[in-house]
Amino acid sequence: MLRIHDTAARALRDFEPRIPGQVSMYVCGPTPYDVPHLGHGRTAVVFDVVRRYLAWRGDRVTFVSNVTDIEDRIIARAAERGTTESDLARHYEDVYWEQLDRLGVLRPDEMPHATEFVPQMQTLIAELIAAGRAYVIEGSGVYFQVETLPEYGRLSHRTFAQLVESAGARIEVDDEKRSPVDFALWKAAKPGEPSWESPWGPGRPGWHIECSAMSLDILGEEFDLHGGGDDLVFPHPENEIAQAEGAGHHFARYWLHSGMVMVSGEKMSKSLGNFTFLADAIDAHGPRAFRWLVVQHHYRNQLEINDDALRAAAAAIDGFDALARRARAAGITATPAGALSAEVGRFVAAMDDDFDTPNAVAVIAGWRRDANSALDAGRLDEAAALLATVLHALDALGIALDDGAGTADGRDEIDALVQRRTDARAAQDWAAADRVRDELSALGVVLEDTPTGTIWHRA
Ligand SMILES: [Zn+2]
Repeated sequence: MLRIHDTAARALRDFEPRIPGQVSMYVCGPTPYDVPHLGHGRTAVVFDVVRRYLAWRGDRVTFVSNVTDIEDRIIARAAERGTTESDLARHYEDVYWEQLDRLGVLRPDEMPHATEFVPQMQTLIAELIAAGRAYVIEGSGVYFQVETLPEYGRLSHRTFAQLVESAGARIEVDDEKRSPVDFALWKAAKPGEPSWESPWGPGRPGWHIECSAMSLDILGEEFDLHGGGDDLVFPHPENEIAQAEGAGHHFARYWLHSGMVMVSGEKMSKSLGNFTFLADAIDAHGPRAFRWLVVQHHYRNQLEINDDALRAAAAAIDGFDALARRARAAGITATPAGALSAEVGRFVAAMDDDFDTPNAVAVIAGWRRDANSALDAGRLDEAAALLATVLHALDALGIALDDGAGTADGRDEIDALVQRRTDARAAQDWAAADRVRDELSALGVVLEDTPTGTIWHRA
């Protein structure tokens, strides 16, 4: 039984989806006004692993993640650059997915854009006004009246009094609002800003309303999982709940939040050996190192990402690739289908415990050691089964191994040359063996002789 730490319950809960065998999942997506940073990468990988694992264990997963393509920062930057909001947002959305594709993050089944769901947001706002939970300020917009919802604060575990006291830092101050914690559902248009017609005058939706409206519209009442980064727990998802439940809807059943990314050093610059931009980290150490570093840590904990940590993760991935190369040299073809079910059970136990990936990767690392020992001892069947188990588990985490052969052309030719060299060595024809080695070297192939055979990979 999968157990999930639910942010709202602040406890582990058995995961029982709305419809057994089907999981509906919504994750707050990007506001594309700049290039993605490390935090975007981590959040995306965390929920990609959740999604992949649920599908891997047999659930049918519907994954929805939004794009906030209209927002204050987009409007400001588009003005700065002399471009339109939609062009700016589209550009940075492309940049965002360019990097996430490199990381192997699966594209959502649906990727709703805020500007395409304005009618649904207006319907929800009208429901809130009718329910007496929202009010109109002429020329300013529509606001949610927090005080009308006694349950407000149940996700971030704050009382109304605490909220009022802490208001100011993260909440827009507006003298006309009935309370400083009330938040905008609809913002009246300022001159030159993109706007939509509405019963409350031309304007645009507030940020929070989009996620409530789009998740309910696409996934329906009481969908299963709602995810996002920890930095967003307040006020964004709190407001999403308020908007949905305040209008009488049943919102998400489970709330997951991933921890923040920390970068050491006062200035988060490359010159200190650290990164802030996702692309730089991937360029330097590869996408699998980034993913490995993410799964080495529990998704709810803070994660320190720096050059050393990424280098260590890259070395771990190299170790797995080396196993795959050795196995290939020994003539082993392992596929996930050949996994050892009792061993897989240990991986599942770790993952079912609130996606405990640090434990899960420790289990996989143990199989790698055992597979290498089996190869050392010439126990090829055992090595093949262990490697199959490794591949099966890594599949759930979204990691594929590189056995060095690549998928490029010429693999058969290289195999044949390596075999010719092996034959020449067996016949103690060292001159012939060296000639073949030179030929392979000219093709960019690196050879490595091991007790169980010759491994090759491309330089
Ligand atoms: Zn959201």
